[in-house]
Amino acid sequence: ILQISAPLQFLGFLYRDLRQSLLDLDFLFNILITRPSVKDGHIELQKVGPGMKIQAENLHFRYRSSRKILNGVSLTANPGESIAIVGPSGCGKSTIVKLLLRFYYPELGTLFLDNIDLQLLSQASLHGAIAIVPQDTQLHDAVMQMPRGYNTIVGERGLKLSGGEKQRVAIARAFLKAPRLLICDEATSALDSNTEVEVLKTLKDLSSGRTCIFVAHRLSTIMHCDKILVMDNGSIIEEGTHKDLLSRGGTYANMWSSQELKEKREPLPK
Ligand code: ATP
Repeated sequence: ILQISAPLQFLGFLYRDLRQSLLDLDFLFNILITRPSVKDGHIELQKVGPGMKIQAENLHFRYRSSRKILNGVSLTANPGESIAIVGPSGCGKSTIVKLLLRFYYPELGTLFLDNIDLQLLSQASLHGAIAIVPQDTQLHDAVMQMPRGYNTIVGERGLKLSGGEKQRVAIARAFLKAPRLLICDEATSALDSNTEVEVLKTLKDLSSGRTCIFVAHRLSTIMHCDKILVMDNGSIIEEGTHKDLLSRGGTYANMWSSQELKEKREPLPK
């Protein structure tokens, strides 16, 4: 018995190894044969001006789960306009941006860029026309502090950048690209108030003439936008300028007064 137990044990290991390898192969083949759910289109956006027209009509969307995330969202941004999307965490703000970038298709509804159905546009022309500014930004001055300014070489063989510096370079790149649509996702969320004022001024100068979409929590950063959309639970519940929305005395006005109160109680670090 002792003589055959070792080979039997070995066969047992071999069997388990073989079974795991076959399962891994099956998983791999499933990935390889999965067709991308988002297809590329063939129409190119024409550079007709510095801004772009955005139109979303009746967008409905859910991720794989059954919960509805967008429930009939419509919005329009004319070339050169800046619009802001505000609302509580999880209400669907970034999901609108993801649909606009064609990461997903809406379940129902249509998106048009310059009056062309987003689904028909080529990925290359989408990438060429849109830039995204991520969180926590500082702009031009930070780049100029590097020895070679905008000619600084980054990447494996170049300067090693910290996470924050990488973000700043991403901003600089976004602007050098001269995008016709600029998407800013909480661009000033974690900045102290002095830096915030500088960043907002730079963003304002650089975004002039372009169409801009700001996704924001802090209302002070978006109060000058041409249009503010207030979302709740997958729907736009209020729409107007800062002044319109304050005089309406609804959700936005409440958000504004509670943020003012909070900032008075907990001022940002200088
Ligand atoms: P925040 O202000 O916190 O960034 P948001 O309003 O931008 O929130 P979204 O990011 O659009 O909200 O998310 C809306 C809802 O969809 C949330 O409940 C979120 O958990 C869910 N969600 C987001 N991405 C996915 C995903 N890839 N798969 C499944 N659910 C998701």
